[in-house]
Amino acid sequence: MDKTTTSQLLIDLHMHSTASDGMFSPSEVVHTAITRGLHVIALTDHDTTNGVLAAQTAANQAPLQVIPGIEMGCEDALRTIDILGYFIDIENEDFQNHLTEIRTYRERRAELIVEKLARLGVNISLERVYAISEGAAITRPHIARVMVEKGIVPDSQTAFNRYLANDAPAYVPRFRLTIPEAITMIHQAGGVAVLAHPGRYANPTKVIGEAIAAGVDGLEVYYPDHAPEFRQQILKITAENSLLATGGSDFHHPENGTIRMGIEAANMPTDTLSKLRERATRYSA
Ligand SMILES: [Zn+2]
Repeated sequence: MDKTTTSQLLIDLHMHSTASDGMFSPSEVVHTAITRGLHVIALTDHDTTNGVLAAQTAANQAPLQVIPGIEMGCEDALRTIDILGYFIDIENEDFQNHLTEIRTYRERRAELIVEKLARLGVNISLERVYAISEGAAITRPHIARVMVEKGIVPDSQTAFNRYLANDAPAYVPRFRLTIPEAITMIHQAGGVAVLAHPGRYANPTKVIGEAIAAGVDGLEVYYPDHAPEFRQQILKITAENSLLATGGSDFHHPENGTIRMGIEAANMPTDTLSKLRERATRYSA
């Protein structure tokens, strides 16, 4: 049976698993999606596609399609911009080599952050950070969790505010991938590139302009943090520039305020998936 011919497709194109900083394993993500009645999901872990195969395997006998995805972090001195990739060939060797390079730096980055914290009088163990990340790409939330666990800060938000945020004293930049580089990497692996949650950046218009100039294929319009007026505004930009309008929940944890798996599914036009698939044919080998 073709899993995608249902008249009302319920889609969530943005979610994380334990392959990066999510709480659920890829198969738990899949089972939750099935329970919520979703038809199509994309697993979009940070800088890795390592959870995709497990998710697809878990969905094998179920009426759920799992699109191979990724969320790539781009960073300059001031900000982090995320680019989502869909329908990537996860077996593309160049792509995977690049990702390995990025993750290797990320591990080194965790070391540098722990060193900076030590110089600020905050001592946490790098081994504990590794243990908590359970083999996933190490991100700042892992370090924040160790700090909470040790009673250094009451919660992760405080860890970010005092130490880990982009302008805080223990900040170390991520691998400096630029927006054009991320988009090119995704295209070369046969994928479609979408600017994640434009509303979360300090200057959305500027970031959207940069992403369009770099050849982005779409904007993540349907996102929990986006107000209705903002959605309308960027939907207009997608129409004017022949871009896709995608969406998703950015699911990380089961209980996370407005971010619940599938929360945008009802808002997304039914042809979202077919348009995404059609766009992907531009880049497939
Ligand atoms: Zn995300």
